[in-house]
Amino acid sequence: MLLLNGTATINLGTDTILNRCPACEADKEVDILVTSNYFHVYYIPFWPKSKEVTLICKSCGLKRIDLPFSDRYVRNYHEIKDNYKHPAYLYLGAIILTILIVSLVISIIK
Ligand SMILES: [Zn+2]
Repeated sequence: MLLLNGTATINLGTDTILNRCPACEADKEVDILVTSNYFHVYYIPFWPKSKEVTLICKSCGLKRIDLPFSDRYVRNYHEIKDNYKHPAYLYLGAIILTILIVSLVISIIK
């Protein structure tokens, strides 16, 4: 049986923030794009894996792609992280699997 699985990416949102640019060596307005990577099985989202951020400096155009979404690269990470949550449907596969297992256990016990 061929198990079709892998990872996919969706956009969680964009914004403009004040952040340190390593090329300008100063605080500049930076466009951010946050993405969510998730595991899927037969194209059903199963479990979110990680969040990544792309930072584009509006002054010099420096583009840093797919960095880990953390306070190491985004200064106000703790203020904005709640704006970029994994959507609930990315847990769909795990929820379906849990329901199936619980139903199976209940049917065996009865
Ligand atoms: Zn810059």
